[in-house]
Order: sequence, then structure tokens, then C-alpha cells
Amino acid sequence: MNSTPPSERDLDLGCIWNNSFAKLGNNFYTRLLPQPLPAPHWIGHSCALARKLGLAEHWLASQELLQALSGNRMINGTQPLASVYSGHQFGRWAGQLGDGRAVLLGETSGLEMQLKGSGRTPYSRMGDGRAVLRSSIREFLCSEAMHGLGIATTRALCVIGSDAPVQRETIETAAVLTRVAPSFIRFGHFEHYSANNQITQLKTLADYVIERFYPECRWSDKFAGNPYVALLEAVCIRTARMVAQWQAVGFCHGVMNTDNMSVLGLSLDYGPFQFLDAFKPNHICNHSDTEGRYAFNQQPNIAYWNLFCLGQSMLGLIGEPQLALLALDSFKIEFPATLHRLMCTKLGLVDVGSSGSPLPVEEGVNFQADKALIEDILKLLTHDGVDYTIFWRRLSNARGGTETDSVRDLFVNRSVFDAWLLRYSERIVNLPKQQVTDLMLQSNPKFVLRNYLCEQAIEQAKLKDFSGVATLLALLESPFEEHPGFHNYADFPPDWANDIQISCSS
Ligand code: AMP
Ligand code: MG
Repeated sequence: MNSTPPSERDLDLGCIWNNSFAKLGNNFYTRLLPQPLPAPHWIGHSCALARKLGLAEHWLASQELLQALSGNRMINGTQPLASVYSGHQFGRWAGQLGDGRAVLLGETSGLEMQLKGSGRTPYSRMGDGRAVLRSSIREFLCSEAMHGLGIATTRALCVIGSDAPVQRETIETAAVLTRVAPSFIRFGHFEHYSANNQITQLKTLADYVIERFYPECRWSDKFAGNPYVALLEAVCIRTARMVAQWQAVGFCHGVMNTDNMSVLGLSLDYGPFQFLDAFKPNHICNHSDTEGRYAFNQQPNIAYWNLFCLGQSMLGLIGEPQLALLALDSFKIEFPATLHRLMCTKLGLVDVGSSGSPLPVEEGVNFQADKALIEDILKLLTHDGVDYTIFWRRLSNARGGTETDSVRDLFVNRSVFDAWLLRYSERIVNLPKQQVTDLMLQSNPKFVLRNYLCEQAIEQAKLKDFSGVATLLALLESPFEEHPGFHNYADFPPDWANDIQISCSS
């Protein structure tokens, strides 16, 4: 219920608003209004997401919505709040955290809308509640890029900027990002109530998540009568699929703390993320991660570690630790199976069963040989420091392994690559060539949000030219398409890209 009666100043967007999270009760959040942001201006927006929200497009150029999504005006029907959660950061228990700079407005069309960077909350600790232009543009573009790649993610409707100064290492300017997701509930929400021995609230939270997002857990055969362990397993499976997609596309999240892990298996809280340029398995994209805890090749292990924390926090509901361990095991099955399937797809491999229809690759006769083919090409990419995205796209364009010069050019060690290529060509020789090519072009993107591309758009935006943000958004919304005329966005990164350092500061 909205405690404040609607005022004439409130903006009516013509949407029906609900806030089911607000119904969980006062232990879950603090109601508050976003803080006003002086003289806001539009920076970028996603028309596709606006449509999904049932929001007429004209709003995204309007002064009214600009004022509302920057915190200067209420939206009629919303019930703003900041939620409380806890979590493990860099492997250590960090205690209470919470939405320190985000406000949940409510949900419309089944999606929650959250303003990030909208000022201090009771959970801000030492922070100023703000987000800077640079990190807001990064999160905006990455959310939509991940969606374009078909990876489960929170979305971003728009970024709004202001000249209001924000102190980081230097003085920067403020921005507010409007994020959208079915829910922003994190592993850390569960950890919070468990750590505080609030079993009633823990159950309320789990029941809410099950009812809204995992109703099938109530009638699980495997875990009959224990929906909570079924929930843990379902989260493990979704997380495994998400991380497998990260690994396949070469995405490094950078801060996989438990408070940045979504219980819906959505990629969440884009900070110092990076899409790999040269393939380097132990690449660390977060300049603050001195130990390499969140290095690219550590992500699957860390996901499991985080799920283990989630499982521990749910023990009071699950009962038997053995049951929780059984649920956690599903990650160990689902992650490698999904990754194998995705990597086979990148290679255009489809196994055809006796019926003539494609078999799941892990059941195919070629499983072991395909696994070796994948491992060996990744070793070669590592050894020669080959650009990950360009390699896969060029291989996709090599017409079923027959026109391979441009792929070969990427390698220093040509004879070793030739030997691999021969094995690969033999593997696909009997597969329908067009089908292989189509599959590869649909699974190996031409465009990813490389750090240097983002940096260029940010530098332009600092000068109030937002065309770079719009161009990148347009390319990344459909990254598998050719976009003639924009080939330079799919080219090798310049040398200075190596010097870009992205830290947790945002
Ligand atoms: P992050 O590292 O961005 O995932 O943030 C970790 C925690 O710190 C979360 O509880 C955030 O809400 C909070 N936080 C990060 N930056 C700020 C800020 N500038 N002001 C207030 N809270 C912040
Ligand atoms: Mg976070």
C-alpha cells in the first residue's frame, strides 16, 4: 500500500503498478523516496525494453519521465523502497549490505523497475548513494548486450545524466540507471535472514521466490515435500546455465560476490566486467581483485562456492545437510553439460541420431572427440593469444572449414592450427554445410561490448555527445547480424585497450 496519497504532481504513465516485494513486510526493506538529481538529461534508452514494459516510446524523450526516473518526481502507483541484504565479498562475510544506492519503484508488466544511483538509503554505509556516468553507461550497455547475446540478465531501460559532481578517485558526474528484472533478489537476501536467525523471514522470502518464480518446486518428484531443497537445485541449474554462457562467450563478471548473485540466475550488477579480447583463461578484469579470485577461469568454481553459501543459508528450511549437498551437485552436472553443448554449437557441431533429428551432443557418439577438439582449440587460442570473438566469427565465416585463410592468419603457430583444422574439417565433413554455417553465425557474435568501445562512448558522452552510446546499443542489440558499415566495431582492439583498468569504483 502506498502510504502517500497520489498528488497532482505524480506522473501517470498509464501502467498498472504493483509491488509484491513490498508485501513481504518491514523486515525486508525501508520505504523511501529517491533523492532529486539536479538538471537531469537523457543519455540513452532501450526502445525494445520500453515496448516490453508496455511503455509508450514517446515517454523516453519526455521531460516528465526524465524528471521521474531521475528522482525528481513520483510515478503514480509506485511504492519506492530499498531492500536489505547481506553477503560474502571476496570470500569473506561482509555482514549487512543492502540497496545502498538503488530504489525499487515497483513492478509493471511483471517486471520490477529500479533506479540505481538515486541517492543515499539506510544501507549506504559510507557511500554517497550515487553512481557515476562512466559506470552507468557500462551497466546500461552491458545489460542490453547480454540480452542481445541471449544470456539471462537484468535489463536496463535508460540512463540519465546530470552535471552534479560525484567524488571518486577524481571528481566525476552523477547518473541514474533504470534497471528492470522480474526480481532483484540475491543470494545475499537469503544469507541476511539466515545470519540473523530470522527463520520466519527466511521462510517468507523462500515462499515468495517459489510462488512467483519457481512454482514447480512445490510439486518436485525428486524432492517431494521439500520445496526448499527443490528451490536450491533450481537456482543451481539456472546459475550453471548462466555461467556456462559467460564462459562460452568470453564474459568475465569481475565481482562475483554473493550479494551480486541473482536467485533467478540473471547476470547482475555489472561493474568491472569485461568481454575477453585475446583469449586468456586466467584473465582478471577487476583491477581491485589482486588475488585473481574472480579471474575468468575461476567463475564456475566461484559460482559453486556462492551456491554453497546459498545452500548453507537455506539449511534451516531444508533440514538435512545431505539434501542440500545433493541439490548442489546439480551444478556439477549442469555446468559442464551446458558448456559442452554451447561450445559444440560454436563449432557448428550437431549430432544426428538414427531418426535424422539432432541429438543432444553429450549423448552423441562424438562426445569424447568433440571434448578434445574444444580443449585443444582453447589451448591454441591461449598459447597464441588469439582474439576470442574474432576467432569464432572468422571460423563461422569459413564455410564449413573450406575457406580458412583469415582464421589461419590469427595464429602464430600455423602448423599446430592446421593439424587442429584437419581434425575439425573431418568432423564436420558429413554435416550439412549450410546448417553448420547458420548455427555458427547464430552462436558466435560479431559484436561484443569490448572495454575500449565502451570507453570511447563514455568519453564522447562526457562531452555531451551520446551518439556513441546509441550506436553501440544498436549493434549490441543484434550482435549476430552483420551490420554492414560497422565492421570497425568488430575489429581488433587498439593497443591502448590493454591499458584500460577497471576497478570496483563506480
Ligand atoms: P557493489 O560492489 O556495487 O555490488 O556494491 C556493494 C554494496 O555497496 C551494495 O550494498 C551497494 O548498494 C553498496 N554501494 C556501492 N556503491 C555505493 C555508493 N556509492 N553509495 C552507497 N552504497 C554503495
Ligand atoms: Mg552489488
